Amino acid sequence: VGDSADFDSEVDSICPFCGVGCQISLKVKDGKIKYVEGIDGPANEGRLCVKGRFGFDYIHHPHRLTTPLIRREDAPAKGLNVDPGNHADVFREATWDEALEFAARGMKGRGREIAGFGSAKCTNEEAYLFQKLIRQGFGHNNVDHCTRLCHASSVAALMENVGSGAVTATFNEIENADVAIVIGANPTENHPVAATYFKQFAKRGGKLIVMDPRGQALKRHASHMLQFRPGADVSMLNAIMHVIVEEGLYDQQYIEAYTENWEAEKAHLTDFTPEKMSQICGIDADVLRDVARTFAGAKAAMIFWGMGISQHIHGTDNSRCLISLALMTGQVGRPGAGLHPLRGQNNVQGASDAGLIPMFLPDYQPVTDDGVRSAFTKVWESADFSNEKGLTVTEIMDAVHEGKIKGMYILGENPAMSDPDVEHARDALAKLDHLVVQDIFLTETANYADVILPASAFAEKAGTVTNTNRQVQMGRPAVPPPGDAREDWWIEVELAKRLGLNWTYTSPAEVFAEMKLNMKSLNNITWERLETQGAVTYPSLSPEDPGQAIVFGNGFPRPDGRARFTPASIIAPDDVPDADYPMILTTGRQLEHWHTGSMTRRASVLDELEPEANCSLHPSTLRKLGVAPGEHVRLTTKRGSISIMAREDRAVAPDMVFLPFAYVEAAANILTNPAVDPYGKIPEFKFSAVRVEAETQT
Ligand code: SF4
Repeated sequence: VGDSADFDSEVDSICPFCGVGCQISLKVKDGKIKYVEGIDGPANEGRLCVKGRFGFDYIHHPHRLTTPLIRREDAPAKGLNVDPGNHADVFREATWDEALEFAARGMKGRGREIAGFGSAKCTNEEAYLFQKLIRQGFGHNNVDHCTRLCHASSVAALMENVGSGAVTATFNEIENADVAIVIGANPTENHPVAATYFKQFAKRGGKLIVMDPRGQALKRHASHMLQFRPGADVSMLNAIMHVIVEEGLYDQQYIEAYTENWEAEKAHLTDFTPEKMSQICGIDADVLRDVARTFAGAKAAMIFWGMGISQHIHGTDNSRCLISLALMTGQVGRPGAGLHPLRGQNNVQGASDAGLIPMFLPDYQPVTDDGVRSAFTKVWESADFSNEKGLTVTEIMDAVHEGKIKGMYILGENPAMSDPDVEHARDALAKLDHLVVQDIFLTETANYADVILPASAFAEKAGTVTNTNRQVQMGRPAVPPPGDAREDWWIEVELAKRLGLNWTYTSPAEVFAEMKLNMKSLNNITWERLETQGAVTYPSLSPEDPGQAIVFGNGFPRPDGRARFTPASIIAPDDVPDADYPMILTTGRQLEHWHTGSMTRRASVLDELEPEANCSLHPSTLRKLGVAPGEHVRLTTKRGSISIMAREDRAVAPDMVFLPFAYVEAAANILTNPAVDPYGKIPEFKFSAVRVEAETQT
């Protein structure tokens, strides 16, 4: 940190990593970002974590793509075989005109043979344009993004039972709560600034109930730490709700006024006694009773959850339980009360809101509704498109293998690292006869591209992003894109024109104005307002209203204004341990690295802190294997095998291994199970049967 003499300009923007959406000030010297400071945004109040403060110099990394590239005719067969710093033998440089013509020619007129993956790293305007390009350009809804891999099941349960896919209260509302549950989330690593609010809450005397199969740093601040068996969420949550029913601790008045299907839920819970469920979830019946009484006795309580809840084949059921728990105790719609799925990527909320999902147009309006589609085609001045829900991320890869999809446009996503059973996804990418990749680096996915369009990092463009709190925030350009790289919205527009679409946008502000025509969530939020105020929470009830931190205090956006109880039964994980694969593999993120590592592994400080692929095992497991910390183990599942350095970690249960997924040299998703939740279609990243062996040293 320096003073104003140390930089030429300072520009306010939004951290590009997690869904907390911290506001930052970028200090620029000689055309480069010199350092970053936290500023007083509504979500962070000046705070930043290590990624936000030190993870920015990937923007100036020599691997940045600076000119469009086209695969050489004599290039080696498609595979994970391209050096991102030296790719001249595989790709040749092209002009923008040539690259865009080439990209469009391979897609034009191919209808359902084309699918698109957009990005939760891009702006709302870019997400909106991407889904519009697929729908208007190809007439169908085969467009998706990484929400499918993180909170799709949470959104499915929230849409079904609450009528809205977003949080009911900002995480900062915890300051008005006296009890909070954090389940299946590890905020100190994945939402670090939100975690500071959680710790302050506990310091003030709030009761923090942490539920996680893996131990974690918040445990030190918790009134209750429930380290339950992986995959046993429904049994544990139903047992807690059973106690609330048995002891009459529910809020009858609230249930009668604002909910439906209570009698069915109540009857369903009868069998889930803490004594019985304790055998399944591994938590003592007395503890389950105490947690039930603590939560039900709260004046105001919040529930936070992460991908430990959502990334299961029963992820929607897990979320249904959390929603039911909040509803039966009347803990929604008041200060300090609410449901909050902690969103992952910095703009996964916004990209979903903008319609980058195969079943919904912007604002979660169903593609199956003729009136909804006609409202959009009227604004777009184009013909109707399919009324069928499109294919999801994993379904698109399956359709490539089946020969139904032959071309893809992938913007800022990296399925060659992020998809479950990733060799299946890589094989699919290799099979495509036309792959257009738009990104800032030659990612693992770009290895398979026919044409690569060099794009912009967050600090090189203007645009809005929406964080986990429903706060729409303005990102601003601080430095120009390198070389011939371009802003993503510009690339989308130029590609659309060459696909024959009538696009005339000249700025993201124009796109935002069009979005508002069919997105009520943006009422009273204008580009100009965001430019001056920086952030507005939706819904905003007037041009002066900063937005509603808490929603649904007086009913829900469902029939009769009532939220719904949907009972959940126990479903075992898909890939359970056996004699050949006796342990449980769970995957996740680390504090220093972000998702597939394309940005943070090129950020010098973060890479210095965490340079090597690693997995975590309990000390007793390492002893049994005869492996010392720092030595390698071999992890093998039914999908594949990797060799990786082992770390000692008491937070991991003796029958588990925790594996971060940021490292290409030991890609976690070689091992993961592609089985999906039937509602959210999200893969079961959090549970696979695995064999762990000492690696034979060669
Ligand atoms: Fe960025 Fe999230 Fe860290 Fe805030 S908490 S600085 S948004 S990574």
